Amino acid sequence: MKIAFYSTKPYDKIWFESLNREKYGFTIDFLESPCKEASISLARGYDAICIFVNDHVTAPMIQKLHQMGVKGILLRSSGYNNVDLKAAKDKIAVLRVPSYSPEAVAEYAMAMLLTVNRYTHKAYTRTREFNMNINGLMGQDLFRKTAGIVGTGKIGQAMIRICKGFSMDVLAYDPYPDEHLSVKYVEKEELFRDSDVISLHCPLTDETHHLIDKESIGQMKKGVYLVNTSRGALIDTSCLIEGLIQGIFAGVGLDVYEEEEGVFYEDRSNDIMMDEELARLTSFPNVLISSHMGFFTKEATKAIAEVTLENAYALEQGKELKNSVVS
Ligand code: NAD
Repeated sequence: MKIAFYSTKPYDKIWFESLNREKYGFTIDFLESPCKEASISLARGYDAICIFVNDHVTAPMIQKLHQMGVKGILLRSSGYNNVDLKAAKDKIAVLRVPSYSPEAVAEYAMAMLLTVNRYTHKAYTRTREFNMNINGLMGQDLFRKTAGIVGTGKIGQAMIRICKGFSMDVLAYDPYPDEHLSVKYVEKEELFRDSDVISLHCPLTDETHHLIDKESIGQMKKGVYLVNTSRGALIDTSCLIEGLIQGIFAGVGLDVYEEEEGVFYEDRSNDIMMDEELARLTSFPNVLISSHMGFFTKEATKAIAEVTLENAYALEQGKELKNSVVS
């Protein structure tokens, strides 16, 4: 099996190289290039490509991969909104990592909430400059506040456990409720209306695109906290900015952003920021943005490598593709 590994960062190699050497012996070429129209021909001669969250594989790219004899797209992620699955059907296998460490993302969502609520990021910079003033850093207890969890899959459930550990009351919304889960399911309007904290854990689909828009923001309590560690396009950014200006949000934590492709994971510190909405978002004192790193723990990255290589092995051996996302 020859694998073209797109969008490689130094940390990707840590587990992939060692696990591949120990167990599989595939030929993996680590390419720095993202996977896009202009770079898809680099996959010629490979059996599979391996991609990450901001590599978008469109229908024409799938057609090209198919013509080149590429048999599989190995996603190093659980989300798969970045591949045109309809176009892939009957042409190429698409395999994901359904679960690697839900706790990694849920713990990060809580870290974002705690940071925007208690301003630990500001305290850090103040004290390093020997500014021990705490004016402006007042937060609120989470104890007995209401957390609204949108999407009660693996990460949403991990977040519910964490919120309950803080003695928060939890409301949940999911069109496919988990009957074994001990949580109060409500309609989304009720969740938006009654939550002090809203954390998004659903996939990006046609239905969830811009789930947070003018209407849903209009239903929220003034002073709500919003955390998105799921996918950027769950939130309509211009409506979010409007809500921030109106003072609806006490704090917002964004690990993902609608237009993150080509920006997140790159060092652009010497560039002029051309994305006006991102520039505006970074200007709010109560908005914390990070670069899609909820997954970024040792345990999660190791599990991603293990499952991705096992997916490649199943593909090579013609075994059952249990992590296929093409039906
Ligand atoms: P999952 O498939 O286990 O759970 C998703 C849940 O969302 C399911 O229960 C599903 O029923 C529910 N859902 C579907 N449509 C919905 C809707 N319209 N409204 C509300 N809920 C809906 O997925 P997961 O492993 O919990 O991951 C959730 C999301 O987290 C992924 O789709 C991915 O976008 C994101 N993610 C982010 C990172 C990161 O690093 N920030 C890492 C991994 C996953």
